[in-house]
Amino acid sequence: MPTQANSVKRFVAYFSMEIALENAMPSYSGGLGVLAGDTIRAAADLRLPMVAVSLLYRRGFFSQHLSEDGTQTEEPVEWKVEDFLKEENARVSVPLENRRVELRAWRYMVKGVRGFEVPVYFLDADLPANAEWDRNLTGGLYGGDSYYRLCQEVLLGIGGVRMLRMMGYEDLTRYHMNEGHAALLSLELLGAEAMKAGRTAINGEDIEKVRAKCVFTTHTPVPAGHDRFPIEYLTRVFPQQSKFFDLKDAAVADLVKRSLQAETNYPNLEEAAASGAHLNMTYLALSLSKYVNGVAKQHGVTSRQMFPEVPIEAITNGVHAGTWTSPPFQQLFDRQIAQWREDNYSLRSALGMPPEEVWSAHLIAKHDLMERVREKTGLQLDEEVFTIGFARRATGYKRADLILADLDRLRQIAKNAGQFQIIYAGKAHPNDGGGKDIIRHIFHAKKALRKAIPIVFLDEYNLELGGKITSGVDLWLNTPQFPLEASGTSGMKAALNGVPSLSILDGWWAEGHIEGVTGWSIGESWRGLGPADVHTDNTKEAESLYSKLENVILPMFYKEPKQYVQIMQHAIAINGSFFNTQRMVQQYITDAYLR
Ligand SMILES: *Cc1c(COP(=O)(O)O)cnc(C)c1O
Repeated sequence: MPTQANSVKRFVAYFSMEIALENAMPSYSGGLGVLAGDTIRAAADLRLPMVAVSLLYRRGFFSQHLSEDGTQTEEPVEWKVEDFLKEENARVSVPLENRRVELRAWRYMVKGVRGFEVPVYFLDADLPANAEWDRNLTGGLYGGDSYYRLCQEVLLGIGGVRMLRMMGYEDLTRYHMNEGHAALLSLELLGAEAMKAGRTAINGEDIEKVRAKCVFTTHTPVPAGHDRFPIEYLTRVFPQQSKFFDLKDAAVADLVKRSLQAETNYPNLEEAAASGAHLNMTYLALSLSKYVNGVAKQHGVTSRQMFPEVPIEAITNGVHAGTWTSPPFQQLFDRQIAQWREDNYSLRSALGMPPEEVWSAHLIAKHDLMERVREKTGLQLDEEVFTIGFARRATGYKRADLILADLDRLRQIAKNAGQFQIIYAGKAHPNDGGGKDIIRHIFHAKKALRKAIPIVFLDEYNLELGGKITSGVDLWLNTPQFPLEASGTSGMKAALNGVPSLSILDGWWAEGHIEGVTGWSIGESWRGLGPADVHTDNTKEAESLYSKLENVILPMFYKEPKQYVQIMQHAIAINGSFFNTQRMVQQYITDAYLR
């Protein structure tokens, strides 16, 4: 039965382990999911015939509690799936070990600016026909061990392709894997090609046909960040694998060798398992995709160094402009810039908007943020004081505490150059001890600096709070350790709201930065260099940050406010008009989907 969703011919299937669509739906943990949601919104705006697939997480991503000293504890999020999603009738089953796991799908329709809709399906294993352990596979996002995780990826990749087929999506010609978690979809496509030819084993022709359909976006700039699973997990999950991978076929043997990062061919997967080999999901996806890209130009350079054997291009990430522009700026753009939602490029004319109106819109956004701070913490921050924002997943390489390296220096800067305050937010992944230490360190500094430099840490960082912070501060701070921030997107949200960045020249900022025009850099430029050529130095980078703040940014904000507003307008016109998912999806269409 054709439904409203599949009555449109759809060509692109977008697979992502997490997709952020609504604040109250805990279907994401961070940047990857936010990017996926923004990608789908832009696809709907552009009337791109796309359909998207993810997994349902009944326990969601956790709710964050912070004690007096900043110790984080986590609780599951209760949410009613039926309040947000519509159940589909279709059922498919996926082989797992010697069982079959039955799956259903829940649909969410993302509506674009011109009314075109993109369906998003969340796969759900919580059905009475399934064993308890299987039902729980769509329970938690990044919750279980590595085997649990592999089984989740089986449901996403294999179950996702089967579900789309079952629901009548017969025109799909591109399968886009957003990160390696979805790489197993390629095995299902291979199996389908073999079956069409009346075989159970795959061969080189199947591989070529599947490669022509697959697009892979890698997001991780370090080898350790890529998903790997012991081969014995794979043989355990797929007891039938020996009928599928005929390693006497040269093309199949080569695919397996590459996906295992092996030096030599194995006669069979059992032997690979016995020698401790791992399946690397990134290598599997790289081997089976015609088009591969990193998420910023610098990340393309880093990825090509990591995977020299395949061509890797770059499409720089974006954010969905209509979603991340705060209400006061939406109203300003609606008055000043015709059709900016349909045509984000037209934001370039923000350069010609009356500066007083830009400043007034900013003051409203800043006031909204300060109200939220008061509701959450009881603290009333001074709205006249220069405010720095930092909201991100709390994890080592993002170095949320780089600015807190020397507290005496900070006190001095506030005395010499003008008052400032810092608003923080961010969750640490439950098992990230280093990330949790950073939150405690911020709480410690907050006590030590007390009135000299007010610091607040807002708990429960999510889409809604992210929107408030990125639009309500005067400066967006970004201090990742090069080259670990593949792209970063929160600074793009800030730019749309006229908030300039002070940032390490990594990820998108290596492209978005024009010194003193769109914001400011911290440290030196490593443009084009890879991780092996670069040695970062926390002390030197902290000093660079302090010196920009003391000598350039604070003096301009307090003494040359007109100049500051000009930078705000450049942030919108130069960066907001470009670092959005409308431009990004257009590049995916021309570079990846139509190729
Ligand atoms: C934008 C956003 C992110 C990603 O921000 P980065 O700068 O890429 O770290 C993560 N979480 C939430 C809630 C966001 O809104």
